[in-house]
Amino acid sequence: MTILEDALKKKVTDDFRQIAKDEKVNINTILKAVSKGQAVIIKRINNKPVGIGFPFRTKINVNIGTSTSLVNVDTELEKVKVAEKFGTDTLSDLSMGGKIDLIRKKILNISTVPITTVPIYQVLTEANSIEGITDDLIFKVIENHLKDGISSLVIHSGFSLEDLNRMKGKRLMGMVSKGGSYTAAYMVNNSVENPFLKNFDKLLEILNEYDAILNLGNAMRSGCIHDKIDEFQFSEIKLNSKLAKKANKKGVQVIIESLGGHIMAKDLIKYLKLYKKITNNRPLFVSGPIPTDFAPGYDHIAAAIGGAFASGFGADYLCAITPAEHLCLPTVEDIKKGLISCRIAAHVGDSFKFGLNYLFNDDLHLSKYRFQKNWKKQFEHSVDPTEPQKKHPISEDVCSMCGKYCALSISQKLFNNKPSTKF
Ligand code: SF4
Repeated sequence: MTILEDALKKKVTDDFRQIAKDEKVNINTILKAVSKGQAVIIKRINNKPVGIGFPFRTKINVNIGTSTSLVNVDTELEKVKVAEKFGTDTLSDLSMGGKIDLIRKKILNISTVPITTVPIYQVLTEANSIEGITDDLIFKVIENHLKDGISSLVIHSGFSLEDLNRMKGKRLMGMVSKGGSYTAAYMVNNSVENPFLKNFDKLLEILNEYDAILNLGNAMRSGCIHDKIDEFQFSEIKLNSKLAKKANKKGVQVIIESLGGHIMAKDLIKYLKLYKKITNNRPLFVSGPIPTDFAPGYDHIAAAIGGAFASGFGADYLCAITPAEHLCLPTVEDIKKGLISCRIAAHVGDSFKFGLNYLFNDDLHLSKYRFQKNWKKQFEHSVDPTEPQKKHPISEDVCSMCGKYCALSISQKLFNNKPSTKF
């Protein structure tokens, strides 16, 4: 029985109990959300499962992995440790360089969070060219990943050959999704239909067997804000919505990736609401979104602005964008910056979704300790306790910004002789 099949039969397993405890959500609410396909439980064998979708807090994914230009396995493993230390909920191993099977196993060995892969990446490297890709190779790679314990697969099945033929010359940046472009090139080169679409039933059988999540990829995402939401994005979300329904009927849980990439800020909220409606409120995963093309080197900040609003108005799962976006393979420090920016975005987004409930105790505690100038406790409640100490050692009382004319000290005397210590 898969998790979805358990939910449909109202069978309460340890996975549901764990999620109820972690998310502080009633088990019946979880069973209902999972059985309707509006939330998923992504599991990692021998580790804690993660809930994605409403009514859970917004989750974050961090991408790691080698490229064909840069293979440093130790660095990738360091990224795993840093991402877990600073609170990622999931990881995606996007390795395309070096011994991919071995790298995946090493990442699985040292990590605890659920891991996603995009099998078409390894398919292309093994085929060594678009021409060498076959359906058999695609399914061999998919099986290998699932056998190793991968929790979720990104599959770009939401477009047809006809869509690709119609798209010619209609966009400034064409198709910017890596997995989407590899799949599209295979289809156009061989004049064949989308291999995932063509073999969708077979894919569902395998995913059901391993109880893995189907992550319907966002091949049609826009690569710049001037490539506005278009017919191709609409056709992808509609097709993915149908495929999700079919997958759910076969006991396979689905996350829908959409509205990622670069989207004009003014369009974001309208389309988030519309896409949630089209997909019957299925878990929505967004990469970014980045609301300006003006910030190379700072795309983690641009993405955090987009991510906060995306999360606040319906996205359930954000992919961290690093300062290296569109520039190079991220360093360990880039991974940390991207993750922290994304955690801030998700936290702000959750304040839209849930108001100032239990998720925001850290904000409350931090503010009270800040007013007391209790630096140690203030930093303990911050998103990254290590960073503020570089600016203000906890041993120092006075902050150099206002020195002895500290507004908070004056305010304590004026308005609050006995600052509250009760939380
Ligand atoms: S010195 Fe100024 S900046 Fe520093 S804590 Fe006091 S009010 Fe804030």
